[in-house]
Amino acid sequence: MTAPTGVSSTAPYDAIVVGAGHNGLVTAAYLARAGVRVLVVERRERVGGIADTVEIAPNVRAPAVAHTVGRLRPSVVRELGLRGHGLSLVAPDVRAFAPQPDGRAITLWADAAATAEGLRGWSGHDAERYAEFDGLVRSIGRFLAEVNASTPPDVKSPGVGDALAGLRLGRRFRGLGKHDSHAVLRVLPMAIADFVAESFETDALRGVLATRGIQNTAMGPWSAGTTNVFLTDSAGNDGGAAGQTVYARGGPGALSAALAAAVTTAGGEIRTDAEVVEIRTVDGRAVGVTLASGEEIASSIVVAGADPKRVLTTLIDPVVVGPGMRWRAANIRTPGTVAKVNLALSALPRFPSAGRNVADREARLRGRIVVAPGIDYIERAFDAAKYGRPSEHPYLEATIPSLVDPSLVAGARAGTHVMSIHLQYAPYALRDGSWDDRRDELGDLAIKTLETYAPGLGSLVTARQILSPTDLERDYGLTGGHPYHAEPSLDSFFLWRPLFGHARYRSPVDGLYLAGSGTHPGGGITGQPGQNAAREILADRKRWKR
Ligand SMILES: Cc1cc2nc3c(=O)[nH]c(=O)nc-3n(C[C@H](O)[C@H](O)[C@H](O)COP(=O)(O)OP(=O)(O)OC[C@H]3O[C@@H](n4cnc5c(N)ncnc54)[C@H](O)[C@@H]3O)c2cc1C
Repeated sequence: MTAPTGVSSTAPYDAIVVGAGHNGLVTAAYLARAGVRVLVVERRERVGGIADTVEIAPNVRAPAVAHTVGRLRPSVVRELGLRGHGLSLVAPDVRAFAPQPDGRAITLWADAAATAEGLRGWSGHDAERYAEFDGLVRSIGRFLAEVNASTPPDVKSPGVGDALAGLRLGRRFRGLGKHDSHAVLRVLPMAIADFVAESFETDALRGVLATRGIQNTAMGPWSAGTTNVFLTDSAGNDGGAAGQTVYARGGPGALSAALAAAVTTAGGEIRTDAEVVEIRTVDGRAVGVTLASGEEIASSIVVAGADPKRVLTTLIDPVVVGPGMRWRAANIRTPGTVAKVNLALSALPRFPSAGRNVADREARLRGRIVVAPGIDYIERAFDAAKYGRPSEHPYLEATIPSLVDPSLVAGARAGTHVMSIHLQYAPYALRDGSWDDRRDELGDLAIKTLETYAPGLGSLVTARQILSPTDLERDYGLTGGHPYHAEPSLDSFFLWRPLFGHARYRSPVDGLYLAGSGTHPGGGITGQPGQNAAREILADRKRWKR
């Protein structure tokens, strides 16, 4: 796009950020710190988007949607001073605990040697291979972190900056060494089922590892490109093969509160209950927003933290976007497949496979509890979604954050816990009926599935909250209920995210920037799209601010 010129200095704000998701807040905080007069407008009653904490019963607070924040870029935490704004992170020793139907379990620890030791009971071969696999994942993850923190090159008119960025990445690529550099090119397009099968023979281990390649996607473990999703999940967080499990004390909403404080402390303003119904344009350039109340607010530029499909197909005059671009934007794929179930529990559920004594059991339940006993199990769960049906036996990722953060249940009856369950696959596009009529099925399905591994869990449930893909769209503004604003498939990766030719945070409309998960490097609570977008917006600053 051409950067906006001739900006009126009478606009009350230099930048309006549409949507106070964590990425929108990250961008706003960087802009405010650079002296930009920034206003964030959010349609919901509070900030954070999917990074939200909600009370599901008196004195029982749950991660409303997302539950872990281990992918958050350390540079975002450091540069925005988030710890000074109250952010406190907890990282238990256990990363994932995967109970199996035969009563055994696989546990992935932060310490790869401890994981390998535990695998001996399953397979000597897998125990021997684990350290090497973990090392490869860490190595590629470090490289991908550099890619993710870079702006994709300008494909129309590459400049010196693109050449320098290319050189930097080239150096990092060579730094991978011969083996890992060959590996990264070979494995990224692979199906995660094939990638994990190259190293391990135990289906239960393959299953728990593979979940990170399909989570939040409309893909199964045999889908091409799921290894890219898996490795991107490891990018920059040193999670290795086990992935990260990190909680924000107070739930993900506490991260959002810290980000909001970073914005306002730096001089930015935030307005909630302020839905943008139009991004206004003059002569094809974004000049502000109109709120649902009818209020018009002018600004030099507009930054969208909401998903790009929604922004380009519903918030801007179609004449400005143009029919070709509008068609392309309408084809950004957002096939949501995820539901969320939160449970208030009267006591800690008992997973017999977690160990005999209480300490052992609790230690294993502090991380992600993963129900994905094998590759075929996950693929079958995915099959149902392809035909518009919820999985009969879904893949679940549950956490019990109150085990590591009792503040979530402070004031509740002693012994109370909160369980947060990510359920996949629940297709947004249901073949029969609507989620509004079938929402309860999701809660029943989650409980029934977990009961296989934690008998009696259902009797502990004192309250539950369920979000279907339709609820995620309606309540959280996710088009198609998609957690990542756009499917993280190979056709929506790097240069192609969200659209080829517009992967550099500058939208097809002059003066309108994109900063949410629909941009490179995609979804998850990373803050990376927001951080990258801020850098590019500030690079254009001389051309939009007078
Ligand atoms: C069930 C589920 C579980 C997940 N679990 C995890 C997890 O454990 N860990 C993890 O890292 N990631 C997880 N994710 C993914 C992750 O949460 C998201 O990718 C990420 O939080 C998106 O952040 P964002 O800032 O880009 O967008 P969002 O959080 O979607 O923010 C966009 C904001 O824009 C606002 N908005 C939209 N339209 C308008 C408008 N017209 N006017 C004003 N405001 C508007 C929305 O209300 C919203 O606040 C999960 C996602 C889901 C759905």
